[in-house]
Amino acid sequence: MTIITDITSMQKKSDSLRLAAKRIVFVPTMGFFHEGHLSLMSLGKKLGDHQVVSIFVNPAQFGPHEDFWRYPRAFERDRMMAESAGVDTLFCPEAISMYAPGHETYAYLEHLPRHLCGLLRPNHFQGVATVIVKLFNIVKPHTAVFGEKDYQQLAVIRKMSRDLNFGIDIVSGHIVRESDGLAMSSRNLYLSGEERCSAIVLSEALAAAQNDVERGEKNARPLISRAKDIILSRPHTRVDYISLCDPETLEDVDEVGRKTLMALAVYVGKTRLIDNAILG
Ligand code: AMP
Repeated sequence: MTIITDITSMQKKSDSLRLAAKRIVFVPTMGFFHEGHLSLMSLGKKLGDHQVVSIFVNPAQFGPHEDFWRYPRAFERDRMMAESAGVDTLFCPEAISMYAPGHETYAYLEHLPRHLCGLLRPNHFQGVATVIVKLFNIVKPHTAVFGEKDYQQLAVIRKMSRDLNFGIDIVSGHIVRESDGLAMSSRNLYLSGEERCSAIVLSEALAAAQNDVERGEKNARPLISRAKDIILSRPHTRVDYISLCDPETLEDVDEVGRKTLMALAVYVGKTRLIDNAILG
């Protein structure tokens, strides 16, 4: 596995791979790998000839009071895990080279960021969209793989790729969970023992909603209200949002249709966790 930190070297490597007619698959990450990341790498491996994984904790997607500085970082551990996963190139740029002094160009979407996580995190998706455009221009992939865990991020990237004609296949991977249902996340590390026990309510609330829908409940209100009761029944929990919405536009719906997204953001202690499921 080759490790590249320099942007121009990565671009040259991608140019030569493309000249040799190799298909480049790209998995962008912020590192501190878990099984969720590894599942995307294993999916990516099947989709091309050369897999690039990036590790970049992107300052532009963190709000001023968010966890940028304490976001977990473990390069040596990640390097070993990526190598065992069969990654070909690990791209780890420095923040100063990604956002050189004077950087003033950002990617911006009109509607999708006005829902779900975008309400509490107003510049988050501008930061995500911008870094993904930059990484795509550097890595020049044919295919890029993202997790459904960050559903709104996936929707934003799909929409941006379509709107701006990137010509890159955007592929998604299922949410990987701990054995008790908690969606894997680098931020789970922040949870205390008691909070970790409470954190399973996100997946429990989604499972209860799925169950209710299967038993014939279609109305959004009782589904959301039951999810809220389940979440608040555990200590240390506070709901940021519970939404039933259209999986493409993320607009709220009153009734569960053929395919409806239930998305949750819940504080467990000070840690904000997200999860989602397609109902119906
Ligand atoms: P992150 O390092 O948290 O920015 O995540 C990098 C990629 O891994 C994103 O596309 C995430 O959606 C995806 N991801 C994170 N957690 C999971 C999970 N539990 N299952 C599947 N994919 C995940």
